[in-house]
Amino acid sequence: MKISDILAQNKPSISFEVFPPKQETGLDGVKQAAGAIAVLEPSFMSVTYGAAGSTSKLTIEVAKDIRDLHGVTVMPHLTCVASTREQIRDMVTKIQAEGIENIMALRGDIPKDGVIAHDYLHASDLITDIRAIAPDLCIGGACYPEGHVESEHKKDDIDFLKFKVDCGLDFLTTQMFFDNNIFYNFLYRIKDKGINVPVIPGIMPVTTAKQLSRSVQLSGTNVPERFRAIVDRFGDDPDSMRQAGIIYACEQIIDLIANGVNHIHVYSMNKPEVAKAILDNLKYILE
Ligand code: FAD
Repeated sequence: MKISDILAQNKPSISFEVFPPKQETGLDGVKQAAGAIAVLEPSFMSVTYGAAGSTSKLTIEVAKDIRDLHGVTVMPHLTCVASTREQIRDMVTKIQAEGIENIMALRGDIPKDGVIAHDYLHASDLITDIRAIAPDLCIGGACYPEGHVESEHKKDDIDFLKFKVDCGLDFLTTQMFFDNNIFYNFLYRIKDKGINVPVIPGIMPVTTAKQLSRSVQLSGTNVPERFRAIVDRFGDDPDSMRQAGIIYACEQIIDLIANGVNHIHVYSMNKPEVAKAILDNLKYILE
């Protein structure tokens, strides 16, 4: 099923994200975790692409496994900054040949050594190519309610986002955020720019203090005082922190649904117990 069709259904739903192993040896463990999330029947599952395409084969393999064994709609991610046009053509053709209908098109982070392939400078270049190779694929792209870390001015970021959407995106998924007001504000700003595709908020249930500091370091996401106090108070006690992090994420989701946002993507980080706890907490809201 195309994610654009799922989003067109006017009812609350949750999707989950998993990541592939760094090496083939970890594949069974990841497939098991992904399977345990898939049996919870999310509306779809996305599978990330290793930095610089290091695990590209494994992304498709995990996605196929979820779809074939559990019948869940999947969306593999694809990054382009370290790939040639030929490599991208191969990947897109492969995804299409597997009968997968969705793809998340990303630039990817610039590798630490600064080595890029130079065929693709921005995600918009990739989106244009995917549209040409596989016109029927449903294509998602990334957006950043607090601005992308490389972007000096939020206004430029939104101008580039408008260009990216116009290259052929069907929907956007946001970077994680911990303050819903930032997301609502972003929705107003992009609407003002004429960006009208659906925007899926990405919610990260933070279950350890270490996970929070790593995520913030990578994304520059603002941590509201209320959440900081939770991490300060419970960060040293794994059970309490996990419980508090899940409840905080559920509160964000409830507020989003109450404000008319129907679909939420959860960065479930290969943790079936976290995905299950979220769905259990939202059981009646999602029914
Ligand atoms: P772009 O849209 O190309 O934007 C990158 C930067 O370039 C921004 O600052 C933008 O303002 C600027 N820019 C865009 N177009 C232009 C232009 N024409 N001229 C000048 N500047 C421009 N990373 C992975 O490695 N694997 C994954 O699976 C993955 N999944 C992700 C999923 C989501 C939902 C999100 C939000 C991020 C994900 N990332 C992933 C991280 C992502 O690859 C990085 O944030 C990356 O740095 C930017 O990718 P992008 O597709 O947003 O790039």
